Amino acid sequence: MKLYNTLSKKKEEFVPLEEGKVRMYVCGPTVYNFIHIGNARPMIVFDTVRRYFEYKGYDVNYVSNFTDVDDKIIKKALEEGVSSDEISRRYIAECKKDMEGMNVKPATTHPLATEEIGGMIEMIRTLIEKGYAYEKNGTVYFRTRQFKDYGKLSHKNLDDLRSGERSLLVTGEDEKEDPLDFVLWKPKKEGEPSWESPWSDGRPGWHIECSEMSKKYLGEQIDIHAGGEDLVFPHHENEIAQSEAANGKEFAKYWLHNAFLNIDNRKMSKSLGNFRTVREISNQYDLQVLRFFMLGAHYRSPLNFSADLMEASKNGLERIVNAADHLKYLMENVQTEAMTEEETKAYGNTEAFVKAFESAMEDDFNTADAVAAVFDLVKFVNTTANAHSSKEYLQKLLERVVSLTDVLGLIVDRKEDLLDQEIEELIAERQAARKAKDFARADAIRDELLGKGIILKDTREGVQWKRA
Ligand code: AMP
Ligand code: ZN
Repeated sequence: MKLYNTLSKKKEEFVPLEEGKVRMYVCGPTVYNFIHIGNARPMIVFDTVRRYFEYKGYDVNYVSNFTDVDDKIIKKALEEGVSSDEISRRYIAECKKDMEGMNVKPATTHPLATEEIGGMIEMIRTLIEKGYAYEKNGTVYFRTRQFKDYGKLSHKNLDDLRSGERSLLVTGEDEKEDPLDFVLWKPKKEGEPSWESPWSDGRPGWHIECSEMSKKYLGEQIDIHAGGEDLVFPHHENEIAQSEAANGKEFAKYWLHNAFLNIDNRKMSKSLGNFRTVREISNQYDLQVLRFFMLGAHYRSPLNFSADLMEASKNGLERIVNAADHLKYLMENVQTEAMTEEETKAYGNTEAFVKAFESAMEDDFNTADAVAAVFDLVKFVNTTANAHSSKEYLQKLLERVVSLTDVLGLIVDRKEDLLDQEIEELIAERQAARKAKDFARADAIRDELLGKGIILKDTREGVQWKRA
C-alpha cells in the first residue's frame, strides 16, 4: 500500500511500526460552533483510510481530539454569557451527531485537551529540562533554533519566515529569543479558564495538546498523523519539534494532509457569507450524500462544493443503493437456491472489480477510482441479476457490493425495520401533534409508519399498532 508522505513529498510503501497494527492520530476540530463542511473533509477522508486498513485486516488505534480550550471558545462563551465548558460540551455533542450522520466511526479515543493538562505540563517541564524551552514572565516558549530538524515537514525557508515574522511580532511576544519560537504555556487573562502550573496560572498552547494526547494514547512513535493541509505549518511542524525534542524519537512515520474544500470555487469563509455547516446540509440531504460527494475526489485534490455537484452525488449514490435494493427484492422471490455453473463463473468475474477497487485504494487512497470500480460492479449487477437468478448468486453479489461500500463508509443495505421503541416514540409524537391540532404532522407520521409496514388503530384505550 502506498501513501503520500508530506515529510518526504513522495508516495511511500506503508510499513507499520508493529506488524498488523496502525497507530493513527487525526487533529480534530476546535469546538465553538457546528462543524462546517470543510471540517467534514478530514473526518470523512481519514475515516475511510481507517476503514481500508481495517478491511486489510489491520488493528487500527485511531485517536482524534477535540480542542476544547481556545480563544474562539472563550469568545463565544463571553458572547452567550455561559462558561467555556458549556460551549465546548454542547458542540462536541453536536459534532458527534454530525459524525454519526456521515457514518464516521467514533475514534478509539476522543481525548479532550482540558482533561490532559497534567500530561502537557509534564511534557513542557521535560522540554525546559532538555534546553528546548524557556520561560519569560509566566509564558513558556519552545526554542526552535535548538531543534535542528525544525522545518522538515513544511519544507519552508526558515530564514525568510524569520524575517517575515520579525516585523509581525505582536506585543507581549517581543521577549521571544527567535521570531519562530512558539508558545507552550501562557498566563491567563481575566475571565479565562486556567490551570495551575510551575510557571503561571494559565493554559497550554494549541500545539502541545496534540503532542501530549498522541503520546498518551498511542505512544511516543506513531504510524500516521493526519489533518487538513493548513495544519502543516505551523501546527504539525511544531508538534514534531515538541514530540521529537521531548521523546528523542521520530514522532510519526507518515504525515497525511487533505486539500481544502471550496464553495462555488471560492474559499469558504464567514465574511464571504458562503459558510455552510454540516447541519445545514443535513436539512436538505442525507449526510451519506455529503460523504459520497467528498469521496468522489482524491483527498489531496482541492474539492469544490456546489449545489449541482451535490445533486450529481445524490444521483450517483442512489444508483448504488438501488442496485442493492433490487438484489434484495429479487431475493424475496427466487425460484432456485444454489448457484448454477454459469453463475459461479459470473461471480468469479466480479473479482476484477474488487481488484480495481483495491488497487485504487492502495494508490494513496484514490477514492475517486475506487468509486468508479463500485459503479462498474453495480453495472454488472444490473445486467446479470434477474428474476431467474439463484438466491446464492444474488446474496453473493449483495455481499460484494456491501463489502466495498462499507470501506467507503456508505450504507447501502439499509435496515428499514423500525424498533418497537422508535414506533412508540413516533406514536407519542403523533398524539402530541393531534393535541396541538397539527393534523398535517399527525397524518404525515401515520403515513410514514404505514410506509414501513406499521398499521395504527385508534381505539378507546389509546393507539394500538401492529406490523403489516
Ligand atoms: P479547525 O477546527 O479549524 O482546527 O479544523 C479542524 C480540521 O478541519 C483541520 O484538520 C483542518 O485542517 C480542517 N479544515 C478546516 N477547514 C477546511 C476546509 N475548508 N477544507 C478542508 N479541511 C478543512
Ligand atoms: Zn493537532
